[in-house]
Amino acid sequence: MPLKKLISGHKNFLKGRFQQDKKLYEDLVEKGQSPEVMIISCCDSRADPVLITEADPGSIFSLRNVANLVPPSHPDGTRHGSSAALEFAVRHLKVKDIVVMGHAHCGGIKALYHGDFDNQEHVDFIEPWMSIANEARYTTLKKFEGEPEEKILKELEMESIRNSLKNLRTFRWIKSAEEEGKLGLHGWHFDIESGRLYALNEKSGEFSPLV
Ligand SMILES: [Zn+2]
Repeated sequence: MPLKKLISGHKNFLKGRFQQDKKLYEDLVEKGQSPEVMIISCCDSRADPVLITEADPGSIFSLRNVANLVPPSHPDGTRHGSSAALEFAVRHLKVKDIVVMGHAHCGGIKALYHGDFDNQEHVDFIEPWMSIANEARYTTLKKFEGEPEEKILKELEMESIRNSLKNLRTFRWIKSAEEEGKLGLHGWHFDIESGRLYALNEKSGEFSPLV
């Protein structure tokens, strides 16, 4: 009964956190949401941005997809779920910051590293989706050739974050908002073992502890 624990958790929420935040929820209904931050993170069950930042309801506009990738802007009239979320966040909600939050031990990144898409269970959607990070894969494998797999995977997770920041800037309304100083773009990496977030300094290209 996998849902049993969640249902009991929901009972606790109704009695606890919801009562504490009742006024906040009422305001969010009355005035609507106005989150100032968008976080793009992986579907992975261990990397929940709301949990690790203890964020309040209404404060994070959250997009989760496989391996927290941002595709390049490609408005062709077809169904781009992640780009639609970006458009809503930037053009309608006018968020002030976008964080691309990667994480350690990412299964999507591991599959990309191994080029492990022969399995028929991966080819319909995962392989084309992960090809967004092909360039990051190429760069990382070239730079860290011969290093242990664990190190290469971590470097690839980080390079893929840099790649997604680059892709964010291909959306014309993101590029202009950033140039006008209205929008900040950030890269974070969640280290599951230590529970720590590492932040990318785009000038040096390095990640260091956020706090
Ligand atoms: Zn992941």
